[in-house]
Amino acid sequence: MKRLLIAVFAGLGLLTVVVLVRTFLHVPENSEAVEHVMIQLDERAIAQRLSEAIQFQTVSHQDPSLRDQKAFDDFILWMGNSYPDVQNNLSHERYGDTVLYFWQGSNPELQAILLTGHYDVVPVIPGTESLWEHPPFSGEIADGVIWGRGALDDKSAVIAMLEGVKHLIESGFKPERSVYLSFGHDEELGGPNGAGQVAAALKKKGVQLAWSLDEGSFVMDDMVPGINFLVAPINVAEKGSISLQIVALAKGGHSSAPPRQTAVGILAEAITKLEQHPVPGGLEGLSLQMFDEVSRYMPFVPKVFFANLWLFDGVLDKQLSGDGLTNAMLRTTTAPTMLSASIKSNVLPIEAIALVNFRLHPRDSVDDLVSYVKSVVENENVEVRYQEGSGRAASEVSSWDAEGFRVVERAIKEIYPGTVVTPGLMIAGSDSRHYGKVADNAYRFNPFILTKKDFAGFHGTNEQISVENLSRGVQAYIQIIKHGAGE
Ligand SMILES: [Zn+2]
Repeated sequence: MKRLLIAVFAGLGLLTVVVLVRTFLHVPENSEAVEHVMIQLDERAIAQRLSEAIQFQTVSHQDPSLRDQKAFDDFILWMGNSYPDVQNNLSHERYGDTVLYFWQGSNPELQAILLTGHYDVVPVIPGTESLWEHPPFSGEIADGVIWGRGALDDKSAVIAMLEGVKHLIESGFKPERSVYLSFGHDEELGGPNGAGQVAAALKKKGVQLAWSLDEGSFVMDDMVPGINFLVAPINVAEKGSISLQIVALAKGGHSSAPPRQTAVGILAEAITKLEQHPVPGGLEGLSLQMFDEVSRYMPFVPKVFFANLWLFDGVLDKQLSGDGLTNAMLRTTTAPTMLSASIKSNVLPIEAIALVNFRLHPRDSVDDLVSYVKSVVENENVEVRYQEGSGRAASEVSSWDAEGFRVVERAIKEIYPGTVVTPGLMIAGSDSRHYGKVADNAYRFNPFILTKKDFAGFHGTNEQISVENLSRGVQAYIQIIKHGAGE
């Protein structure tokens, strides 16, 4: 007995030592020190131009008849007039209302790069206008903040890229690698006529980009609980999306003599099963890389868990799966969104239908998902239907070891010293689903700071960006283009 106790204690002691040693060794990998860069810019003039850009109501409506074509034409005209250096030094083409600029590099042997953003915006939800502290299309600048729809998504990126190129031209910079700039007009509608057409045209010309940079993640400030430093996940992939119909079948008839279970009951069971059996996922590949990197900078206690995945894998999985945002990083998510059944209160339904939206993680294909869902809801009275070709799989996963990633990483660290840069996964969609088809690697990242408060402005109320934040973003784009296309 005594021997057994000694053995148990020795085992526990050894385990503790291993856990502690691994935790102490879980430190940032030695990366090259990056020098802080500060570029003097005319912040007020830049803010003024974003303010003007916001005032064009370039809204993408679901209903195309509501579209204000003049706003788009005026914006394009304004862009050319406001950035004459860009307009005169770069060639430009229009694809619908999307403008593609081309800055010829001195070395045609090198693959070109592309920077892109979109200047269309989502509508302001009718009735919420009065909730805005400054009207959504006023572009008002008050207390160092620029207000309005597009301040973050994504006119700020469009303006910051234009300002970056303007600054580089003024300072005599000549790109060695050619640079494309594409400013989309229908990203909020999936980008078929803008980014889709640009990508098709590039493909036709035989252009294969070294890398592209589009909207995506930000320099996160205080977004993740427990992390008190800046984190910049450069998104290297975006999730796919598919909606499946789960259909429960039954006999129907009069509601006065119902069977033990109606189609609605059968459907409810199927949905409950789906919610109780999330699509398998976990800390691996891209998600593992991200959490591993960030956890090296965490305080001791959370670090213990990430440094010892061999022991705490299950605990962490449970913890991360419990939060909507971190869960979405780990797996394909399941979201029942729409329901329909009988047409009348006293008529038994012959079909009860739920529409379930799944956001596909790069680890799952559409076919994988459909067979998983079928296996979970398995019941002779339940069908899983989907329109062939209706969904889209996740994008390819771009390399976080390639030059483009390193260029963006370096620029972030130069402008935002001390930021932890990791690869990330985009849980929404972007125009990169098109550009990724003509680029070796597609990255999705906006070099602006984003706080929880800012996040609420996305497609919401009181969208805003500070003058200082905008200026830092311009500086980051300058560094990105300099490193990406030049020295
Ligand atoms: Zn956007």
